[in-house]
Amino acid sequence: MNAVATPVPAAVEIVALTKRYAPGTPAAVDQIDLRIASGSYCCLLGPSGCGKSTTLRMVAGHESVTSGDILLDNRNITNLPAAARGTAMMFQSFALFPHLSATDNVAFSLKMKGVGKAERQKRAHDLLDRVAMGHLAERKPGELSGGQQQRVALARALITEPRVLLLDEPLSALDPFLRIQMRAELRRWQKELGLTFVHVTHSQEEAMALADTMVVMNHGVIEQVGAPHAIYNHPASEFVARFMGGHNVFDTPAGPIAVRNDHMRIAAVDGAATHGLAAKVTDVEYQGTYVLLGLALDAAAPGRQSVSVLLGEAAFLASPYSPGDSVRLSWAEADARTLGPGVKPPGQRSAATATTPAGALRDDTAAIAMTL
Ligand code: ADP
Ligand code: MG
Repeated sequence: MNAVATPVPAAVEIVALTKRYAPGTPAAVDQIDLRIASGSYCCLLGPSGCGKSTTLRMVAGHESVTSGDILLDNRNITNLPAAARGTAMMFQSFALFPHLSATDNVAFSLKMKGVGKAERQKRAHDLLDRVAMGHLAERKPGELSGGQQQRVALARALITEPRVLLLDEPLSALDPFLRIQMRAELRRWQKELGLTFVHVTHSQEEAMALADTMVVMNHGVIEQVGAPHAIYNHPASEFVARFMGGHNVFDTPAGPIAVRNDHMRIAAVDGAATHGLAAKVTDVEYQGTYVLLGLALDAAAPGRQSVSVLLGEAAFLASPYSPGDSVRLSWAEADARTLGPGVKPPGQRSAATATTPAGALRDDTAAIAMTL
């Protein structure tokens, strides 16, 4: 159908990668190690300021490295210029030139490289065909839908024949409906092209929907790496459990644990329920398939913020709850996940050890005995 070479994906390896923007300041990225499998969809996830974009920009060659190495299929690219790395970047809201046609947007980097007009137009057309946009090649971005613009941006990134596509919050400026459509399309293209995608996002929902591998970052370091279901079912730290959402964190004599809100057991206090944590329902939110209950624990200590319980619609309707109801909360021991300490903010951790022994972070809260 067209003459575009099938791109060859590459594995990305990051070794002790560090970025310090100014001497004496905390590292924005602090000695991270990461291996991203060739042809996989990897999402770097974490709150604003945790070092996601800095990491991506160092891989792209748009930011210098303070120390450490970046390898593409075992080739050290740490000091190569951006254009020589085999990576390409796709930016927020696609960043297309509004005054240029789709073809000229896609051909732009070839023009910069001095490729002749006939050749660059042909290659741009071939790529637009590949993303099913050949018939709209002469339109300007303003004459294209959001989805069509994304495909043009994808073709533009692919024209340099990258082996790794880097995406920095490509969907975050879109309205929610388009964002969900576009992420499904990104996922489809990644599978179809077979390329390695590294996608930065602060949305756990987006990362879970897209990623083969999720990398949860906090304070310039990696808290946890794994498949979305593995992280959701076994969050490594309180930070990860809270950031992923859908979990309650409790303190126990053995340390903090997380319990998924759909694994919580709830019973009305009507004489039958005599064990578990006493709590009051504060909010009832009908969500269709599920009903989300917000609760406040009677004792302040164990769950230091409000607790939630997610019930199936049928279960809720069979025994409904209202705000103000007194209940007891419990869970099966098999559903409790022991949490590690996670990382401290820079300045509070020593250079030698980024983590502290389990429990060392917990002296702010009295451990309580749980009756389950
Ligand atoms: P994220 O993409 O996860 O929101 P960034 O990688 O942009 O985080 O930023 C990580 C940290 O580095 C933040 O503290 C941020 O303020 C700082 N930072 C980012 N870019 C620069 C820069 N060009 N100069 C100085 N500090 C920066
Ligand atoms: Mg960023």
